[in-house]
Amino acid sequence: MFSNALPEDVLYIIKTLNQAGHQAYIIGGCVRDAILHTQPKDWDITTSAKPEETKELFSHTFDTGIQHGTITVVLNHTNYEVTTYRIEGEYEDCRHPSGVTFTKNLQEDLLRRDFTMNAIAYHPEEGYQDFFHGMEDIQAKTIRGVGTPALRFQEDALRMLRCVRFAAQLGFDVEEETYQALSENKELIKKISVERIHDEMEKLWLCHHYEKMPLLWQSGLLGEIDGSFANRLMQRAHNLLEELRKAPKNSVLRWTIVLQDYSPQEAKAFLKKFKFDNESLKGICLLLENINQELPTQGYPLRGLISKLGLEAVEQLITLQEILRPTAPSLQTAQCLHKIVSDGDCLTLKSLAVDGQMLMEMGVPKGKKIGEILAVLLDFVHQNPQGNQKELLLKMAKEHM
Ligand code: ATP
Ligand code: MG
Repeated sequence: MFSNALPEDVLYIIKTLNQAGHQAYIIGGCVRDAILHTQPKDWDITTSAKPEETKELFSHTFDTGIQHGTITVVLNHTNYEVTTYRIEGEYEDCRHPSGVTFTKNLQEDLLRRDFTMNAIAYHPEEGYQDFFHGMEDIQAKTIRGVGTPALRFQEDALRMLRCVRFAAQLGFDVEEETYQALSENKELIKKISVERIHDEMEKLWLCHHYEKMPLLWQSGLLGEIDGSFANRLMQRAHNLLEELRKAPKNSVLRWTIVLQDYSPQEAKAFLKKFKFDNESLKGICLLLENINQELPTQGYPLRGLISKLGLEAVEQLITLQEILRPTAPSLQTAQCLHKIVSDGDCLTLKSLAVDGQMLMEMGVPKGKKIGEILAVLLDFVHQNPQGNQKELLLKMAKEHM
């Protein structure tokens, strides 16, 4: 159905494996997305070849998760994950299989996958290998666990969160037995590492089928992940979904909206608990600290604010204000900011026409005084953007000495 849409590199990988006597198919998200006519993010290949056999066939490969059978093949600067058919052993703790066994049987590999829509293999000549009727489920916009959903969630509890995320990503409904299994096994999510939960929640807030997001708390899953977070979120769920709908797809912005009624201290504890990286943590907390302030609509105070918080943060605050406080004069602030940027106004010490070295040459002693004078000069330039001239500023500095 979509073989002419397959990239040349993918066709080459499949052909090379086939010519060496191995089976090979594209699999998982890329097949699902191609059926849905959305551009796959990446192309994954599943093969009967053992990892060492795959490595022998391609000149540029590296080991990605060799213990799980995954090799990355690099072609034309693009990475393709090629994974050996495998059967997962017993799951001991709702997250890790006790062992992985390679197999020569495609169907066995498909059986270990989470949802029917993710368990369709495709070969450019043979077509679809769809043992679990994933195609029908995709057409009916249904998410259905492969086999017995409860067992699949008990094997790896992250699948429950993936289920909700896929619903919000694709706008699909969760099939009844699968949903039942999810709500009955929700407490198992506690066994999953915060990192894996973070990654899925991160993806969830960036999805655009907002109407499906309530599955996260209505199923009770969020309550198991973090009870107080779930309670706070549910109280303003309706507004939240509307706000997310208006927000650009930016992680820091969306998390700020999600955590908008958290104090910066509460947010910091939450973000640390879920192991956010430092940059995101700082970005979200900075926005939360400033989320309720009136944004200036005049050049002087706005230049000061940009100098203090950074241009990106002020732009994000304007966006947040537009979404959360529609009566605020966001348009004026945005226009003023636009003019400041297009005029190239001096905003920080970096673009000030004088620096510490020049002040020292003029006789200002090294130390605190330099910083004080530079701050006065910068404030002057914020007030008078035309005044960012070396001679004028040095003259002012002299008066301050
Ligand atoms: P996307 O990349 O759009 O998030 P995807 O379906 O490609 O979706 P990946 O996490 O990239 O998801 O995984 C690729 C494939 O591996 C899935 O389609 C599925 O077949 C299988 N898979 C991934 N994670 C799991 C899991 N936890 N349990 C079972 N199968 C999984
Ligand atoms: Mg993928």
